Amino acid sequence: MKHRRGIGLVPPDHYAVEIDKVTLRTLPQWFVIYARCRACRRQTLIERRDVARRCGQDLSLAELSKRLKCQRCDNRSGNPLFLQMLPRD
Ligand SMILES: [Zn+2]
Repeated sequence: MKHRRGIGLVPPDHYAVEIDKVTLRTLPQWFVIYARCRACRRQTLIERRDVARRCGQDLSLAELSKRLKCQRCDNRSGNPLFLQMLPRD
């Protein structure tokens, strides 16, 4: 399936969700989670299976966001999450 860019009301790559309501269990499989450091702008992929194993499937994305620590500069506050939908071929 081709990536549909420029269609719809949301940006093509990043999706806004209500992160205090969505948990690792309820977030659809085809979303990948990225975190970005607010301080140094490092961006990294979150391994949701790793997080689920360590913190449980019922961890909300809001809680996850609070637990993030930047691996480069150790910043812990205000690091936003982004979701990206995997292309489903
Ligand atoms: Zn950082």
